[in-house]
Amino acid sequence: MNTAMSIKKYNIWTIGCQMNEADSRHLGSQLESLGYAMTEEVTEADLVVLNTCVVRQSAEDRAIGRLGYVSSLKKKRPDLKVGLMGCMVGMREAPRLKKEFPFVDVFMPPSDPAPLLSYLQGEDNEDAEAKVEEIRRKNEQNAIQDEEYILPALRRNDTIQANVPIVLGCSHACTFCVIPYRRGPERSRRPGEIIQEIRKLAEQGVREIMLLGQIVDRYGTDFEGDYGLAELLTDVSEVEGILRIRYLTGHPNYMTDRIIEVTRDLPKVMPHFELPVQAGNNKVLEDMRRGYTREEFRMLIERVRRICPDSTINTDIIVGFPGETAEEFQDTYDLLAELELDKVHLAKYSERPKTIAARKMPDDVSEEEKERRRLLIDGLVDEILTRKNQRWMDQDVEVLVESRHKGKWRGRTPHNRLVFFESDQDLAGALVDVKIHYTSPYSMQGDLVKVNVPALPKAPNLSTIPMFHRSLKENLSQS
Ligand code: SAH
Repeated sequence: MNTAMSIKKYNIWTIGCQMNEADSRHLGSQLESLGYAMTEEVTEADLVVLNTCVVRQSAEDRAIGRLGYVSSLKKKRPDLKVGLMGCMVGMREAPRLKKEFPFVDVFMPPSDPAPLLSYLQGEDNEDAEAKVEEIRRKNEQNAIQDEEYILPALRRNDTIQANVPIVLGCSHACTFCVIPYRRGPERSRRPGEIIQEIRKLAEQGVREIMLLGQIVDRYGTDFEGDYGLAELLTDVSEVEGILRIRYLTGHPNYMTDRIIEVTRDLPKVMPHFELPVQAGNNKVLEDMRRGYTREEFRMLIERVRRICPDSTINTDIIVGFPGETAEEFQDTYDLLAELELDKVHLAKYSERPKTIAARKMPDDVSEEEKERRRLLIDGLVDEILTRKNQRWMDQDVEVLVESRHKGKWRGRTPHNRLVFFESDQDLAGALVDVKIHYTSPYSMQGDLVKVNVPALPKAPNLSTIPMFHRSLKENLSQS
């Protein structure tokens, strides 16, 4: 009882993109190095952090709802510490939020846990700013402690896939998008730091890495010399224990032949592309300031399919952008019908504060019309994927098994298709062949054929990382 009480517990609530998931993981590892332990029960926590998203109003509303709940917890337990992180805080919203949510103790910009770390180390006096700057500088100089960038103890050996940011921020300023205002200017993390993080994740059982950036194919454009995403993919491929690598999100203008070729040629890099088009009409694309035309996007898809024929391509679409007429929307529909991409992340336009669109373009497409357009694209994609996914019928596909879901194992194919199958064996982290016997637009089902790489070892004692590292190696060498 006494020992349980002496260990402080933290709970992190995360919504939004993969970048937020990675930021929460980084924060968790730094909290654990301060002696905190993770809990999934918010009511048990001494420290609660909300990592927020504001890309659309609906995400912001959820964060505000959660803040209301945390406020009620704090009323009952005034010693509860509350941190607010992510795009709601951005680079400069903290003073405004402090007035609106006075029960929040600390505000953290995206990817920047320094204010909370400083606060927890008791530096909440006039030196606080200096302390925050010192922690930031240390992080930047890569003078990170050994415990950093690792998984929370509760998650070790149980996390198959991890997101690793490689490009922070964004400088593109698409007119609809709030991200550049909240995540700051674009900057690439140095390769050494990225590889170090991935090595540590591999030591703790991670087998698939997702490299992240708002415009991931711009990685390294701020370095001297020509080290870019293709070179980084080559270096990440060398990391022992990592079986699969993906990257997200590409911008159509920066997807070079070299990146496509490396994706085709490196066995660990999965043949899957995320290339958001957002709209298929040239006037809308120009109003969005995307920097390409419908014709150029079509040529890009042809180029990807020519260089890397056995690949899948996902995209993002926004319907109901300001001024989008029914005819202009039809161009988007027609382009998607023609290109037959493999998945569409679909969103209704949501006006975001301070963006160019919010300042200059009235949100004039009605909610009913946005919903009508959303349903039309949804139906089209459903029909395309019903047909396209049938190509996997009766095929053996290789699946990296992630977790159990409603009594079945769940994992993904190299082409990022979701697969479910039954087996009594423990297969978390295994690479297996599955024969597909059922396909649908968004997932497939099959039967286990064989295990190619065995499951992760169960780690009886997670407190000693080097020991775990050895057991993973042994397990891999037995395969
Ligand atoms: N960097 C990516 C976009 C990341 S944001 C790119 O270059 O396209 C993730 C997705 O959220 C976007 O692709 C877009 O479809 C959606 N999104 C961003 N701002 C939005 C807004 N104001 N309204 C609706 N959807 C939005």
